[in-house]
Amino acid sequence: MQRGLAKGDRVIIALPNCPEFIYSYLGAARAGGIAVPLNLLHTPRELAFIIKDSGAKFLITNQFIGQQIKQLPNLDLTVTILDENSIKEILSSPPAAFPEVKSEDTCTFLYTSGTTGQPKAVMLSHDNLIGNVISMDEAAKFGRDENFLVVLPMFHSFGWSTSVLLPLYIGCTATIIDTFRPKELLQILSKERITIFCGVPSMFTVLLKTRRQTTFPTLKYAISGGDSISEEHMLAFEKLFNFPVIEGYGLSEASPVVCLNPLYGVRKIKSIGVPLPGVEVKVADDDDRELPSGEIGELLVKGPNVMKGYYNREEETRSALKGGWLHTGDLAYRDQDGYFYIVGRKKELIITSGFNVYPKEVEEVLTAHPTVAEAAVIGVPHPVKGESIKAFIVPEEGRTPDKQELLRFLKGHLAGYKIPETFVISSELPRGATGKILKRMLK
Ligand code: AMP
Repeated sequence: MQRGLAKGDRVIIALPNCPEFIYSYLGAARAGGIAVPLNLLHTPRELAFIIKDSGAKFLITNQFIGQQIKQLPNLDLTVTILDENSIKEILSSPPAAFPEVKSEDTCTFLYTSGTTGQPKAVMLSHDNLIGNVISMDEAAKFGRDENFLVVLPMFHSFGWSTSVLLPLYIGCTATIIDTFRPKELLQILSKERITIFCGVPSMFTVLLKTRRQTTFPTLKYAISGGDSISEEHMLAFEKLFNFPVIEGYGLSEASPVVCLNPLYGVRKIKSIGVPLPGVEVKVADDDDRELPSGEIGELLVKGPNVMKGYYNREEETRSALKGGWLHTGDLAYRDQDGYFYIVGRKKELIITSGFNVYPKEVEEVLTAHPTVAEAAVIGVPHPVKGESIKAFIVPEEGRTPDKQELLRFLKGHLAGYKIPETFVISSELPRGATGKILKRMLK
């Protein structure tokens, strides 16, 4: 505040996982500012867009990132580089008087990668974030003796809410690491007596590949979210490391957690579980009418965790929050017991010769083949069918997938119209900060 921060000013936090990230974020929010955590994978062009779009006046970073940021042209920002001197100066300054901050005030802008087009800022209030943490706490009932491993990036809603805010709320320990290095992570999991580990499916897959038969006596659960986890990888992971993986589901617009498999009740593999306490979820048709169990429709969410809207995007806010429900853009169904299952993104649904094909179903069959490590399936324009199916495949180490053999395998598991026409073998797939495959780049 000594630097002139006024209520509502946007403060970009460009830091890797470290305690200073937490102080900067919470400090900005307590002073009435709006924290804008920056995805460190962004290119300078994307960063310039976010600075302009958010109208940020302040940026907090470290020396290394600061050097790169200062090279951006027309930078009209107060940049604070956190180093020993600036931290000493901040700590020795007299405390400033804080403005009144209301719980409904915007606390953060989260830029979503946006499956198409420009990224947009999800506006979350203090109430949204706190509401989600309280719901998580009620569902998970973690105690003060927990030790959370913080390896997910803090700039992402999943990492921030479940690995930082939740332990702060509970009053338990969090052990922070700056980035995901598989072998180091396995050591930390056992040496630091970690009890909860929140990760994304791509992390579990990489850990599985280390094939290290390590035991973790203190670890109670790994919580997986951000993307769907394959049944095969989940079960192999649990067998190798001997602790359960609990799948949940969320999105930035919902602060983020919406559903979680029960920690104390029945866990259903392949399901994202049941809604958190206080959160309503329904599967609806195109007119937002609730569908009966077993039928596929869009997943809609209502609750204290649902965003205020997108910053400066009235039209998109109106359609995302139509009728008071958050339209997630995810296709799902509910079973008889009230458990939800994600089948894919609405935008990624492939319609070929009038048939609906959910890429996830085809990807699951492909990855079950012994020569395939990873797969991504997309629809490409086709003059007769509307769309045809194209599969990108990353081979298992030392294996070469054979197209004819793959086709035979697929035919044994899927209806003919779901079988890809084109296969592309690739050494890796483009991924975002939380390991999600970036299908728009494949397209
Ligand atoms: P983000 O806003 O970056 O957190 O991305 C949210 C999106 O991730 C959701 O809309 C879903 O498409 C996807 N997602 C999150 N969790 C899961 C899950 N368990 N299974 C399938 N997709 C998921």
